[in-house]
Amino acid sequence: MTESIAERVARLVRPEVRALNAYHVASAAGLIKLDAMESPYTWPTEMVDGWLEMLRGVELNRYPDAAANAVRERVHTYMKVPKGVEVLLGNGSDELIQIVAMALGGPGRTVMAPAPSFVMYEIVARSLGMEFVGVPLAADFGLDEDSLLQALERRAPALLFLAYPNNPTGNLFDRAVVERVIAAAPGLVVLDEAYFPYAQRSFMPELERFPNLVVMRTVSKIGLAGLRLGVLAGHPDWLGEFEKVRLPYNISALTQASAEFALAHYAVFDEHVQRICTERRRLEQRMQALDGVHCFPTATNFILFRTGQDPARLTQAIREAGVLIKNLHQPNGPLAGCLRVSVGQPTENDAFLDALAGGL
Ligand SMILES: *Cc1c(COP(=O)(O)O)cnc(C)c1O
Repeated sequence: MTESIAERVARLVRPEVRALNAYHVASAAGLIKLDAMESPYTWPTEMVDGWLEMLRGVELNRYPDAAANAVRERVHTYMKVPKGVEVLLGNGSDELIQIVAMALGGPGRTVMAPAPSFVMYEIVARSLGMEFVGVPLAADFGLDEDSLLQALERRAPALLFLAYPNNPTGNLFDRAVVERVIAAAPGLVVLDEAYFPYAQRSFMPELERFPNLVVMRTVSKIGLAGLRLGVLAGHPDWLGEFEKVRLPYNISALTQASAEFALAHYAVFDEHVQRICTERRRLEQRMQALDGVHCFPTATNFILFRTGQDPARLTQAIREAGVLIKNLHQPNGPLAGCLRVSVGQPTENDAFLDALAGGL
C-alpha cells in the first residue's frame, strides 16, 4: 500500500512545526487598513520620481552587496548607533528574530518573553524546536518584575525578548525594571525597539553597559513596511556569530537601493511620525470620550482598547462600516475584550471613530 501525501507529511514534518498555525493576514480589499501598524503616508511625488529614477541604475542581473555596506552606514547614522557597535540587517526584524534564535537555539534551549507580546518570538522559537516560556505581564501590562526574575532563574533562557514598547499592549515598560531584568538575565536579551520613533526611548546608548544586550529596530512602522528591513545593533562578538547563520543575500538589491534612498530623505519620515503622534492624541481623546471605551496608554502608533461589547461582533460591525482593525480577544486571557487600532490619516481615523461609535 502506498503512503498518502498526508501520511508522509505527518511522518516527516517535525511535530512542533505541525502544531504551529501559519501567521494569518486578514484581507484588506476595499477597507481602510488600520490593523497592522503601518504608516498611512506615502511619499511626495518628487520623491517618488527621484526614487524611480535611481532604480534605473540597479543591476538586477547581479547579486546584491552581500554585506549591504551602504545601507548599514546610513543606518549607523540615522539610528545613532554608538561607535564600536555593529549593525546586522534582516529581511524585516522578523528575520532577525529567526537569525538570533537559530544562533542560540536548539533542543533543550529556552526562549522567554513577557505574555502577551509579539507573536513571532513564540512562533520562531517553537519552529526551531525550542521551549517557549511566556511570563504573564502585570494587570496594568507592565513587567511583573518578581515573576520575571524568578522565571529567569528557574528556566535560565538562552534568549529573552523584550519589546520596548510592547506589542500588542502599546505601553513602555518601566526603564529601571528593564535594566534590572537585563542585569539578571543569564542569556542574551533582545530589546525590540520596533516603535522607537513613536516612543523616543531607547537602550541603544546602554549597549556598552550590558554585555548580554542587543537592540533591534525596524523601518516598518515609519512608512517602509513593504521594504522589509530590520536592524540589529550589538557588540561585534555577538553579531559575528549571527552573521554566520544569515543567508548571504538576505537584503535584495531593490531593498538596499530603496533603503539608502529613503534614509537619505529621513526628514520626510520624521514629519510623518510627528503627524501620527498628533493624530494619536486626538484619536485617544475621541475614543475615551465614547461611553464604555477604555484606551490603554500607548507609546506606539496604535491604540489597544477594551469595550463592554462582544469583540467579534464589534470588529465585524466596524469592518462593515469599511474599516479593518485587529481583534485580540481571547476568552479569559489578559486581552479579553481587547481590540487594536493603528493610527491612520485624520479622515481614516474619523471613519474609524464613526464606525466604532455606530457599533457600540
Ligand atoms: C511589527 C513588529 C516587528 C516586526 O517588524 P518587521 O521589521 O516588519 O518584521 C517586530 N517587533 C515588534 C514588537 C513589532 O510590533
